[in-house]
Amino acid sequence: MDEFSFIDSIKQRSYKQSSLLKGIGDDAAVFRQTSEDIVTAVDTFVEGIHFSRDTMQAFHIGYRALAANISDLAAMGATPAFYLTSLVKPESWHVQEVEGIFIGMKELANSYGMDLIGGDTVSGKQLTISITVIGYVPGGKARYRSVAQKDDIVFVTGTLGDSRAGLHLLTENNSYEHTEFFIQRHRTPTPRVEFAKSLSKLSRIALNDISDGIANEAAEIAEASNVGILLYDESIPISPFYTQFSLKQQQEWKYFGGEDFELMGTVSAQEWPFVVQAAENTHTKISEIGIVTERSENSNVFMMKNNKKQRLNKCGYTHFK
Ligand code: ADP
Ligand code: MG
Repeated sequence: MDEFSFIDSIKQRSYKQSSLLKGIGDDAAVFRQTSEDIVTAVDTFVEGIHFSRDTMQAFHIGYRALAANISDLAAMGATPAFYLTSLVKPESWHVQEVEGIFIGMKELANSYGMDLIGGDTVSGKQLTISITVIGYVPGGKARYRSVAQKDDIVFVTGTLGDSRAGLHLLTENNSYEHTEFFIQRHRTPTPRVEFAKSLSKLSRIALNDISDGIANEAAEIAEASNVGILLYDESIPISPFYTQFSLKQQQEWKYFGGEDFELMGTVSAQEWPFVVQAAENTHTKISEIGIVTERSENSNVFMMKNNKKQRLNKCGYTHFK
């Protein structure tokens, strides 16, 4: 199969977004937007760095890669509309397998009414997939991480550490319970789009999605807003069967595991009830996990455990050392 038949095989037969004027098939896609702000992001996934065929099938690779991108849109409060994919295919990958990646993306895209409107296909040494997403947000309502203020409530959706636990289950052959739950959290995560969208009435809310672990996301909010963040260790939400892992693993994964694609945010105590209501309306678990403080000199994220305050250092994967 050549590149052209491949593109034809992944091409949608019809499009869902009414703003689209031209999808796949010309030099570029065209859409028209007059009233809302446009939000866009790109993420790249490289085999061996971001995923492995040992723990993920092609379907999961596509599904999770798009989920990570949609999660960025959710963290801006945006409604997903389009995606474009740039693919580098090595010879060791069969076309059918690559199509599996696109089927995984499509499965998730369909649930948001998103259209695949373009991309690029080339051959190369390592399977790499780069996804660009485009979404809409009501004018002036994009949610920035730079708006946190002292005394804000810090909250998080869902439970943390599950995705990393899922990866552990896929790579270690120990006997654990409820493995399916953790594996599903790892392979097919659900970005918190509906919850974030339903916050559009709030006057001020800082949001960040949890791709690198809450310790890093908290530091990003703190730095961008020039504040400090204090987290209460006992309040960090974990799933019912998370306690089967060692205490060390639990601790490490919930702060640094990442890829849960939950949302972390800060909001004034005054508007907190609206956040709780939005969570209820969208059937989203939500937990208050800390408070925004003044920025301190040496570090900006702390954790309170057994009445002792300790520094939470940034740690996680860095690509450029
Ligand atoms: P051009 O030479 O104009 O860049 P291409 O042959 O690269 O054209 O692409 C033809 C059409 O197929 C374009 O609309 C492009 O956006 C789309 N396309 C190519 N690769 C992909 C891909 N991996 N995913 C989605 N659309 C793609
Ligand atoms: Mg091209």
